[in-house]
Amino acid sequence: MRILIIGGVAAGSSAAAKLSRLKPDWDLVIYEETEDISYSSCNMPYFIGDLVDDPEQIAPRDPAYFKDHYNTEVYLHHRVEKINPGDKTIQVHNLKEDRTFEDHYDKLLIATGARASIPPIEGVDQANVFSLRKFEDMVSIHNRMTCCMPEGSSVVVIGAGFIGLEMVENFVRLGYPVKLLVSDQVSKLSKELSPYLEAELIRYGVEIIKDARAVKIQGKKVHLKDGRVIDGDFVLLATGIKPNIELAEDIGLKIGSFGAIETNKQMETSIPDIYAAGDVVQTQSLIDGSPIYLPLGSTANKMGRVVADNMAGNKVAFPGIVGTNIFKLFDLEVGSTGLSEAQAKEKGYKTLVYYHIHRSHYASHGGEPILVKAVVDRDKEELLGTEVIGFTGVKNRLDIYASFISFHGNIHDLEYLDTAYAPPFSTVRDVALYTGMIGANLLDKKAPSQEGKIDENFLTYIQNRPSSKLMTPINFS
Ligand SMILES: Cc1cc2nc3c(=O)[nH]c(=O)nc-3n(C[C@H](O)[C@H](O)[C@H](O)COP(=O)(O)OP(=O)(O)OC[C@H]3O[C@@H](n4cnc5c(N)ncnc54)[C@H](O)[C@@H]3O)c2cc1C
Repeated sequence: MRILIIGGVAAGSSAAAKLSRLKPDWDLVIYEETEDISYSSCNMPYFIGDLVDDPEQIAPRDPAYFKDHYNTEVYLHHRVEKINPGDKTIQVHNLKEDRTFEDHYDKLLIATGARASIPPIEGVDQANVFSLRKFEDMVSIHNRMTCCMPEGSSVVVIGAGFIGLEMVENFVRLGYPVKLLVSDQVSKLSKELSPYLEAELIRYGVEIIKDARAVKIQGKKVHLKDGRVIDGDFVLLATGIKPNIELAEDIGLKIGSFGAIETNKQMETSIPDIYAAGDVVQTQSLIDGSPIYLPLGSTANKMGRVVADNMAGNKVAFPGIVGTNIFKLFDLEVGSTGLSEAQAKEKGYKTLVYYHIHRSHYASHGGEPILVKAVVDRDKEELLGTEVIGFTGVKNRLDIYASFISFHGNIHDLEYLDTAYAPPFSTVRDVALYTGMIGANLLDKKAPSQEGKIDENFLTYIQNRPSSKLMTPINFS
């Protein structure tokens, strides 16, 4: 049995690794158009920020490793240009030798991921303008920082999604003054939460330029639509991504409402023996079964393993996602899971929305406040989503909420969830249990309504907090 995999990062390499264990005697081949495979994109901002000194820590596996450990042939600099489902072949372009050849598959995985989406700004092809998606982008940015950014140089980041924000932190870590161009708000959280992230950016000296629509980059000047001109020696475009669906479109694979490939739960596309996984596919929401596109490495990795199982004949279903994500912004931990208030309303839910702030754990053990925004379905009394901001302990609360939402937990049950407690980790009633208690009280009208109110002290807390984690090096050992 010959398995061909197009793309060798999270989805493609995890499929190959698992398949090599399930079917050690099958022929496994990965075609990858760049020079790198199986790397940790998520760590790229921290390499640029000099927290990781060796790029090999981010891309520890090469084709020889895949051959030895996963019985997989990896061909770098090979771009797949066409799929012929009729005779089960693909057309491959060896980019180094400029030679094209055909290969045959019994089963094929499209794991072509996504690319940076570059807006129509004049001058984006200038040598001082970059985006960050691939390993080679990371190397180019790092080289530019080393060669051409002497002390006093400045950076402009366009886009305030999680990649833009992680990069802002790392440019500040390198000592550059950073201007962040924001069209509307900072991050994709609910708009009223943006000021908390802005406060953290300001605390670290980042200049936030609002209502900024870049239209032209000329030399070291970024021109905005309203006539403002922003100076910057280096410009990073962090303006979103686009799934690489061209091969799929070419053969008429079903494309979903988010513009990514649609598969069934076995990750099979609309053509037999062709699977797809990772950032190139959309999936379904565990909340209501509707399509959802939240391209993340955590999901791509799981999908790759599901493909391997199904190719090998084990009928395994990828269940879908609730949409859990987290990122770090200087000392803040920021994340969300499930539906935002806006998404829930758009879907027609009758929502209960409330905020609360409670300590991650006891102050005497270093506990700090965590802000939670919760969205509950008033009819079924189920938790639909939370957005969480804090300085410590955000991930474990998000994971509680994600599990609870995945299994359609009733908000009354969250109050009594049997979570772990000791003073260094939590208060006796955990933050997540407060989410349950307050939600239940509001639904049952046992308490005065706190809907729509965020305690202003949280903003003051952020503004006055001493800085701490910025320079912590990452230890991979
Ligand atoms: C800076 C950054 C930080 C991130 N941080 C996080 C994080 O903290 N947490 C998280 O969960 N996710 C994070 N992500 C997202 C995560 O990296 C992606 O979700 C993940 O890499 C998707 O894996 P993939 O295999 O589907 O696609 P990709 O990583 O896009 O890989 C697809 C591969 O296919 C290759 N390819 C495409 N077309 C062809 C072709 N025709 N022929 C041959 N090869 C082809 C591409 O060159 C590419 O190497 C981050 C991403 C970035 C850029």
